Amino acid sequence: MTDVPDILTSPEDVLTTLHSDGRRRWIYPTLSPGRFLSSRRVVGWILIVAYLALPIVRINGHPAVLLDLVHREFAFFGLVFYPTDTLLLMVFLIGMIALVVLVTALLGRVWCGWGCPQTVYLEFVFRPLERLIEGKEHVRKRRDEGPLSLEKAWRKSVKWGAFTVVSALLAHTFVAYFVGWDQLVTWMTGDPREHWGFFVLMGATTGLVLFDFGIFREQMCTITCPYARMQSVLLDPDSLIVSYDPGRGEPRARRSKMRMAEEADGAIPAQGDCVDCGACVRTCPTGIDIREGLQMECIACTQCIDACDTIMDRIGKPRGLIDYTSERALAGIPTRIVRARTVLYSVLFLLAVSAFTTVVISRDAYDVNIGRVSGDPYTLLPDGSLANRLRFRVRNQTGASSSFEVEVTSPTGASLRAVGTMPVPLEDGEMKRLETWVLVNPADLTDGTVQAEFRLVFGDGTTESFTFPILGPSRP
Ligand code: SF4
Ligand code: SF4
Repeated sequence: MTDVPDILTSPEDVLTTLHSDGRRRWIYPTLSPGRFLSSRRVVGWILIVAYLALPIVRINGHPAVLLDLVHREFAFFGLVFYPTDTLLLMVFLIGMIALVVLVTALLGRVWCGWGCPQTVYLEFVFRPLERLIEGKEHVRKRRDEGPLSLEKAWRKSVKWGAFTVVSALLAHTFVAYFVGWDQLVTWMTGDPREHWGFFVLMGATTGLVLFDFGIFREQMCTITCPYARMQSVLLDPDSLIVSYDPGRGEPRARRSKMRMAEEADGAIPAQGDCVDCGACVRTCPTGIDIREGLQMECIACTQCIDACDTIMDRIGKPRGLIDYTSERALAGIPTRIVRARTVLYSVLFLLAVSAFTTVVISRDAYDVNIGRVSGDPYTLLPDGSLANRLRFRVRNQTGASSSFEVEVTSPTGASLRAVGTMPVPLEDGEMKRLETWVLVNPADLTDGTVQAEFRLVFGDGTTESFTFPILGPSRP
């Protein structure tokens, strides 16, 4: 047998899902029906439908959610953002961060337990499939620890087959968020030789999803997730947590032990409400014992609440030995909702929402950028006029097809020759460039420059005016 270094032999030094020598300790969390599981199941299935539908449903002609990194186009519920919307993106991110820290300060890890896709898919899709095919936890554990048999082989094969199908579905949905549903369908229905990269991408994504939900599981929350790492700074004594009430539960003891002690001493020993049945530990998907206090591994899934409530019902004690509460409430002090950090986060969130709304409302229908084409800044033509070569870059943000053409309105006598045909057609969301020569009379220049005024005429009849400096030789 391999010697285990001393440093790893203390169980306190390792996670509940790891043996002291670093090997994975596979956990078999039991299902604990109850009021919270029923509510979480409803919320979970609503979210599953939403996660699957968001890249498919279209709002204002765009997917409800699209994160097209390649074309740098992002759609959120009818609003479309482009690379030029850096300010919007920054405000949006600030708002999201403020919302996450606010919700965590108030409601603890409610996202982890109720809304995170990792929890939702694992608890309401993959584990139910596993129970259906391989049986209840104690049966699975016994079979897993036993030798290979025909039954074990077919059950495992069917389970991994089902997991692969679900993982492929999730992988396609995940990729649809980044490339769009239409592109995904094109790849799926097209000639594989033309889209071999897609098959590699889908194969890799399906493999990762399968590994995550089939093998990695709770370790995503306890080892990998950065949000879990931040809990110690995001939570405070007023935050909502799932907690055991030691004042009520301790001293804990099994009922059989209590009876033995009573028979031996003739006196009824002091006992809290916890009968040390271990139901809260057996049901925990991260394998922890909530009676040891708040732990980073707790994802607030509420399964231990349901498990303990069932035990309390059985022994005729009030529910809530494990419950949603706060550290202050446990100490007998009222929980405060209004406190410095929640006020600060709320103000920050409201400011971000206001700024975001203002920028979105005031955003131009067309994003226009004028620049100088690289090379000589000006050219003197044989007829004596001065020419600058400019580039007009226009993005259509109207939500409909349009077009644009450019006119020069000042200085008087200036003219414009487009390198290409006008009007330039522009589909919704499309960005196009148009290069033009702008010709002016050199006499109009002062100190080598004159502000030219341009008018852009769009296909929907609207116009916008811009100024841009025309350069030429400085007068002696
Ligand atoms: S389920 Fe309740 S009674 Fe049983 S061990 Fe946990 S806290 Fe104690
Ligand atoms: S301790 Fe309770 S709430 Fe926390 S993860 Fe385990 S079962 Fe869920």
